[in-house]
Amino acid sequence: MTATDLALPRLRGRLTADAPLGAQSWFRVGGNAEVLARPEDAEDLAGFLRGLSPEIPVRAIGVASNLIIRDGGVPGVVVRLAPRGFGSVRIEADGIVAGAACLDGAVAEHAAKAGLAGLEFLAGIPGSIGGAVAMNAGAYGSAMADVLDWADIVTRVGEALRLPAHALGLGYRRSSLPPGAVVTAARLRATPGDREMIAGRIAAIRATREASQPVRARTGGSTFRNPDPAESSRRAWELIEAAGCRGLALGGAAVSEKHCNFLLNTGGATAGELEALGEMVRAKVRAASGVELVWEIKRIGVPGGLAP
Ligand code: FAD
Repeated sequence: MTATDLALPRLRGRLTADAPLGAQSWFRVGGNAEVLARPEDAEDLAGFLRGLSPEIPVRAIGVASNLIIRDGGVPGVVVRLAPRGFGSVRIEADGIVAGAACLDGAVAEHAAKAGLAGLEFLAGIPGSIGGAVAMNAGAYGSAMADVLDWADIVTRVGEALRLPAHALGLGYRRSSLPPGAVVTAARLRATPGDREMIAGRIAAIRATREASQPVRARTGGSTFRNPDPAESSRRAWELIEAAGCRGLALGGAAVSEKHCNFLLNTGGATAGELEALGEMVRAKVRAASGVELVWEIKRIGVPGGLAP
């Protein structure tokens, strides 16, 4: 199926056929979206999805900080929400309502300026609020599940719903959002606090990250989930280190020396190389410890071979 074969309903926003996605992902790898949809607002998105033939796959992406977009591209419609239309922030007495395209770090800063505590953990996570809901993003002992009141979503069939947090099945870096659903906004709870102390905590989180993670590199964050404690008491990075994978490389892909649960595109890596390196790491960890690492990074689209 090609973009021209897809009978697409009208969108007020932008529809682009064969749209490059890789350059916008944190890894800077990957092929094109068959169609990229950038709706103007939630109503526009809902109308589009209502009219879209049910067999066409739909995938929302945020700022692609947790994604390997495969080299062969992503079939169907990729929905990416733009700050215009989905980037508003509303401060309330005990929380923030943020559009799904808002960056987590910006929401943490808005909260700090408003003297609202409890959202500092978002300061170090480079994704969008939509991605944070979908992944139940978290750090330093807090996660979205602890602060989320509700999320507005548009389902694959174009129904706009406000779901309470408990209906989203949030668990360790996962949610049970229905396939093809798009998060458009979320309300996060916070408590009044001292502005300077909140800003201090944000600065400390950012400094800790700079010191321990390759935050300026072409990466996708934690590659593998930490194993269930019943399977192993060691964290993913410890298992990877013990299996001798720190610094392991394949083509332009490498395991970070700084934090060995991070994969890097050191230059001209392909998605295929990153994924193959990840599988090498899984095989070495399996051989060394018997633990089967599970990908935390989402891999989307179709493979396109190893060659650049
Ligand atoms: P994407 O990567 O674009 O997508 C991730 C998933 O969310 C996909 O399944 C996608 O379909 C879905 N999704 C995205 N937007 C929507 C939407 N609007 N509606 C429905 N589904 C959607 N994560 C942590 O949890 N904690 C950390 O401490 C952390 N540190 C990181 C550090 C670095 C340097 C990097 C690069 C990443 C890190 N991450 C961390 C991973 C990543 O930032 C988070 O998972 C983030 O929540 C992903 O948001 P995103 O907008 O980039 O989503």
